Amino acid sequence: MSMNENIRNIKDSIGEDVALIAVSKTKPLEDMEEAYNLGLRDFGENKVQELVYKMDNFHHDDVKWHLIGHLQRNKVKYIAGRVQLIHSLDSLRLLEEIEKQYKSKDIIAQVLIEINIGKEENKSGIFLEDLEELIEACESCSNVKVKGLMTVIPKGNDESCREYFKEMKTTFDNLKERKFKNIEMKYLSMGMTGDYKIAIEQGSNMVRIGEGIFGKRNYNL
Ligand SMILES: *Cc1c(COP(=O)(O)O)cnc(C)c1O
Repeated sequence: MSMNENIRNIKDSIGEDVALIAVSKTKPLEDMEEAYNLGLRDFGENKVQELVYKMDNFHHDDVKWHLIGHLQRNKVKYIAGRVQLIHSLDSLRLLEEIEKQYKSKDIIAQVLIEINIGKEENKSGIFLEDLEELIEACESCSNVKVKGLMTVIPKGNDESCREYFKEMKTTFDNLKERKFKNIEMKYLSMGMTGDYKIAIEQGSNMVRIGEGIFGKRNYNL
């Protein structure tokens, strides 16, 4: 299928109320240009180096950049003030560094807290039991605003996906009912090419789709 058809199909199935992040990692600027011309404005990258390269070389003022992969503390300075949303706040020390870098520039960081809902060893994100502590720390920040939660769930069948997404939505809703400083539960970022329909069925309002838009990634290039 063409990119045009891919995007049309995805937009039809996600509806108007779900934000679509085009995950362009490993894909060349020409592919992004095509997606841009088909109306997409939110682009997601999982590596800081590639993100910075693309921010420097993709010349459209109205693009919103999303850092969706693990963020190392020593790389925060390269993206501070340049991205719409950091999806991957996953530790107190990273929070401190984001606060510090954004404060020094007198700007506000918008972040999502990444939850490792399946407790997988090789995945980033915090465990649910560490959420309260991180939230407390966010409340005392001056330059970080939490806008919601993000997750990448373990691979599995539809039923296991549904359960993980459901647990995320419950967590999101519970936080939403409480009052915090600096914290708003606006975005629930979950769902990728293989599982976004189930994610939306369970309450996601932000999906991150790569291969479903751009076609298969080739990591050997
Ligand atoms: C690569 C990636 C995606 C998109 O995955 P696809 O299967 O290509 O849709 C979404 N979220 C994160 C964090 C990713 O690294």
